[in-house]
Amino acid sequence: MSTFDCDVLVIGAGPAGSATAAALARAGRDVMLVEARRHPRPKACAEYASPRIVEELARLGLGGDAWRRYAVALDRMHVVRDTQRVPITYRDGDGPRTAWGLDRLGFDALLAEHAVASGARLLDRTRLERLTDGVAVLRTTDDSVHVRYRWLVGADGARSRVARQLGVERPVRAPRRLGMVAHYEGLPDLVTHGEMHVGSGAYIGLAPTPGGELNVGMALPLAATTGAALRFDAAIAALPAVAHRLAGRRRLTPIRGVAPIGHRVAATAGADWLLVGDAAGFVDPFTGEGIYRALRSARAAASALAAGDHGAGQRYRSARIAAFAAKDSLTWLVQGMLAAPPLLGYTLRRLERRPDAAAALGAALGDCRPATTALSPRFLASVLLP
Ligand SMILES: Cc1cc2nc3c(=O)[nH]c(=O)nc-3n(C[C@H](O)[C@H](O)[C@H](O)COP(=O)(O)OP(=O)(O)OC[C@H]3O[C@@H](n4cnc5c(N)ncnc54)[C@H](O)[C@@H]3O)c2cc1C
Repeated sequence: MSTFDCDVLVIGAGPAGSATAAALARAGRDVMLVEARRHPRPKACAEYASPRIVEELARLGLGGDAWRRYAVALDRMHVVRDTQRVPITYRDGDGPRTAWGLDRLGFDALLAEHAVASGARLLDRTRLERLTDGVAVLRTTDDSVHVRYRWLVGADGARSRVARQLGVERPVRAPRRLGMVAHYEGLPDLVTHGEMHVGSGAYIGLAPTPGGELNVGMALPLAATTGAALRFDAAIAALPAVAHRLAGRRRLTPIRGVAPIGHRVAATAGADWLLVGDAAGFVDPFTGEGIYRALRSARAAASALAAGDHGAGQRYRSARIAAFAAKDSLTWLVQGMLAAPPLLGYTLRRLERRPDAAAALGAALGDCRPATTALSPRFLASVLLP
């Protein structure tokens, strides 16, 4: 058995953990980053990222072209329902922005490498087993490792063992969905934008990714989960526009699934711990913000700790409210519409006729404008009132 000491122990080297580790190491903290697998590792994800990841990556010192090798620029997402089609575009004070179709294998590996280049020590193929009194018990392929830490950051995703060990994990009540993704051969007319096809209780996103591939990602009601591959194909067949799109296209990867998609916790910080990214809670990828949120929460965690250990948990909680509370309300509003197809159909009809309102909604969903703009009574009345 080996024993290590560190100042900050980060569990999980996905975008949230790697970004937290990089930011803290750049600020001079002694950081150990622990990852159960070895990069490049697959992650079930529709790989459609918010325009605002650019700013978060630049803050981490990844402002150049390095990450763009793993990204294609997408100027809009079409929300499609039956014959309705609403383009969601992105614009901030400086003009139009693009979202990003990512290759998560390369993107996540690059972030982990960047954490190491920034000074973090990475232990990969090493899994957190349990926490006991300021000591994390880890398991490598052939050894048990004890790590004493001053701060623990749980960045171990939507099945966070850190959250479970801390006793803050809670059951996901709604929405309860099965998520599945696979890559297909790309489509020549779907290269600079994505499509989100909405059906009854389910949706399927088509997002171009680097290398001319297409990410097909879906969320279905979490009923019978038997035969995921059958459900995947049946969901495509149930949405004729998607079936038409994918006819004759080869599936290039295995289908990866997650059930339920979301994660819920009772608290995101304590006396010597913080949760970031999905470990701190995740609702649903429809509004495509998980990766941005992982990076943004990493920034909040790193600045809470940079201002001193005392009160860091409270500073982090406050920063999360400032960063996410309005967007969370918007996310739940969108979820409410997904659960009420007639209301969704009505709203999309209104947005089809109101491109200015669709643009304002896109700016809020893409984190380019404060989400409060899309929650104001004036905006909601302009969309919803006849
Ligand atoms: C079906 C689906 C589609 C999605 N589509 C999108 C999308 O289009 N756009 C978007 O922005 N977001 C999307 N998301 C959400 C997005 O994938 C997550 O929000 C994002 O990956 C969160 O990053 P993270 O670093 O918090 O967690 P993760 O990326 O899950 O990383 C967690 C890391 O922790 C490691 N780990 C886990 N347990 C342990 C342990 N015990 N010890 C050590 N390491 C451990 C894992 O191996 C993993 O590498 C989607 C999610 C799903 C399920």
